Order: sequence, then C-alpha cells, then structure tokens
Amino acid sequence: MSVVVLITRSAEETESLGASLASLVRDGDVILLEGDLGAGKTCLVRGLAVGLGIPAESVSSPSFVIAQRYDGPSRSLVHADAYRVDGPDRLAGIDLDEMLGEPRTVGAIEWASRLGDRRPARSIECRIRSEDGDRRRLEIRDRRGDAREAARLADALRTLFGAAVEPDGPTCPICRARPSAPATTPFCSERCRLADLSRWMRGAYLISRPLEPEEEPLN
Ligand SMILES: [Zn+2]
Repeated sequence: MSVVVLITRSAEETESLGASLASLVRDGDVILLEGDLGAGKTCLVRGLAVGLGIPAESVSSPSFVIAQRYDGPSRSLVHADAYRVDGPDRLAGIDLDEMLGEPRTVGAIEWASRLGDRRPARSIECRIRSEDGDRRRLEIRDRRGDAREAARLADALRTLFGAAVEPDGPTCPICRARPSAPATTPFCSERCRLADLSRWMRGAYLISRPLEPEEEPLN
C-alpha cells in the first residue's frame, strides 16, 4: 500500500481538501480521522459537509453526541467523534455500523482509533499533523481494498493539492521523512538521531502511564 502525503497551509485549505474528498469518495466510504486536538479534523469534516451540500456551520465539535447524521441534497454525512469513547462498551445504544450502512451515506469518524476493533476496516484513513503555524501535514491511506479506486483518489489529490504518493512504511520519529540509510534507522539522518537524543537529555519525553511497582522510586 502507498500513502498520499500532502500539505495544507491554512484551515481554509484543509476545508477545501474535505470538500474535494466529498466528490472523490463513493457512497458507503468512511474517512477515519486521526490527529491531535486542533490538528484540523473537524475542519476537514466541515469541508466534506460543504462538498455534500450541507451547511458547514451545522457541523460542530467537540460533540456531546458520539454520532450525528446530516442530510444533504443527494447524500448524507454521518459524523462521529469517538473522543469520549473509552472502549467499545461506550458505543452501546449507538449502531454506528448501521448509520454508516444507510444508502447514499459518507462517513467521517474523528479519533477513530478509540473505537478499537469496532473501527471500520475498509476505510480511508487520514492522519493530520500540525506543523509550523497553520501548516498541516496529511497522510492518507486508502484501505478500501480497491486498487483502482485508490489510484484514482491518489491521482486526483496529486492534481488538486500537489500530493506526493510515497511507499508506506516507517517514517522518522522526528521529522517524518523516510529513513534512507539503515545506520540511523528509525531516524532519517544523523541530525534527527541527535535531535532525539537531545530531547531525552532535556527530559522532554515523560512517562505517560502509571508506573509499575518495580519502577517506583525508592523512598
Ligand atoms: Zn528525520
């Protein structure tokens, strides 16, 4: 599988990408959105809504409902936000699969990874990462299982947004470039390897899980 990588320079450009996706996806397609708070996931969904003829302002986030359906003139958008889903149990009462399975429906799920194994497998995955200022890096992986459709989507994104199509695989943890020499893997270069080392030295990496008893400092 390949990954389509593109850069947007403003929220408007991210929204415009969403609007373009509306015309590129097929009925039943689901876009899974991953990225930190403020990365622009909802912005992309607003664009998607606009592309489907749904007023952008009706799309809101953060949502207090997990999934919302908006009806457009010819297709509907099911917008789900799994941010508050702690586990599959929290989806009790919401049949997301059924909502997504309605005819003439396009789906968009924010924080889709929180759905665990309830995450739709056949999907278009879009990872958004904040870079300097309003610049965003988007990685789009087509997991719909249709090579021709994937090529069509990639071609359209290349034409419209200057997207690059790269082989999928591990990328440098510091700058996300692809490692070129095995000597510095997983980092792309000696420079990034040293940048990582310096982050460790400065204590930038903190342990974000509870300590196991044997790791607790001795009193
Ligand atoms: Zn790097």
